[in-house]
Amino acid sequence: MSKPFKIGDAVIKPGTRDTVMIPLSRLADHTDMMLKAMVIHGKKPGPTMFISAAIHGDEIIGVEIIRRLAGMKTLSRIKGTLILIPVVNNYGFLGMSRYLPDRRDLNRVFPGVESGSPASQLAYTFMKEIVSKCEFGLDLHSGAIHRENLPQIRANLANPVVKDMAVAFGASIMLNSNLRDGSLREAAKTVGCNMLLYESGEALRFDETAVRIGVKGALGVMRYIGMLPKLKPSSRRVTPVQPVSSHWVRAPISGLMRAAHGLGDVVEKGAVIASISGPLGEVEANVLARYSGVIIGRTNLPIVNRGDALFHVARVDDLEDAETTIETRVQNAEVDPLFDGIEIV
Ligand SMILES: [Zn+2]
Repeated sequence: MSKPFKIGDAVIKPGTRDTVMIPLSRLADHTDMMLKAMVIHGKKPGPTMFISAAIHGDEIIGVEIIRRLAGMKTLSRIKGTLILIPVVNNYGFLGMSRYLPDRRDLNRVFPGVESGSPASQLAYTFMKEIVSKCEFGLDLHSGAIHRENLPQIRANLANPVVKDMAVAFGASIMLNSNLRDGSLREAAKTVGCNMLLYESGEALRFDETAVRIGVKGALGVMRYIGMLPKLKPSSRRVTPVQPVSSHWVRAPISGLMRAAHGLGDVVEKGAVIASISGPLGEVEANVLARYSGVIIGRTNLPIVNRGDALFHVARVDDLEDAETTIETRVQNAEVDPLFDGIEIV
């Protein structure tokens, strides 16, 4: 039998779930700001894991992933403790912005300071109340505004536990990503929490495939860490492609861009990914692939300035394998159950 789980001022009994409100701050109009977390505390002891979204307030796909997870009956039978935090940066979420009111990026101020900037104080509370109590974590993101990502995991794949979590998540791409100063992932590592970051879709937009892959991925990680029972290996299981490296292809000139390729497309070195011209077609410049790879991120905005990042291309060893893996993952997502019967379109 598990022991009661303490978080904020609440104590969650084994075999129950509760939504806790952890005080953060107060807005200028004296509305209280709270960090809302659902804690599902299993009867039997097991691992502790958090799943968070909207650290960047406008990246809302993860909020929908968490909503679907929260409604799943199977989570009432978990071993251990699952903490769901659908909106971490509630300031940014309400303002439909990536940032906090002081224009800071929350994912650059971790682990935070108790008496620091508003962002730093939020990071501090999140670390103290959530991350430091967890051995595992999954943080859900999307591309920035006007930018869209192919469903992908970003993680420190040199850590074997983290790599196994990434494989268990089963997105088509897992990108090795070094820890960035001030990021949640870096701070989590220092308190012994193994973390994945899921990137998918675009800010301020929903995307059904991205949501489904996220829900399935979260369940896959829970099975891997022993929170949920393991499933028999399935023929539909996807082994993620691990790119060698990745880079952004930038706009050679300013103008209007017409894309010839989209997310998930495989491009050969030298291929024309897009063309840019002036509004009357005065000049025309092609955007070329610097090497063969897969498009894992792109801008959706046709108005571009010279130097703008247009396409994120991941260099892979085996183009054909990458193409098959991505197609299979998307097809699997289409036949996966809807979870609550409502598809986002
Ligand atoms: Zn983000």
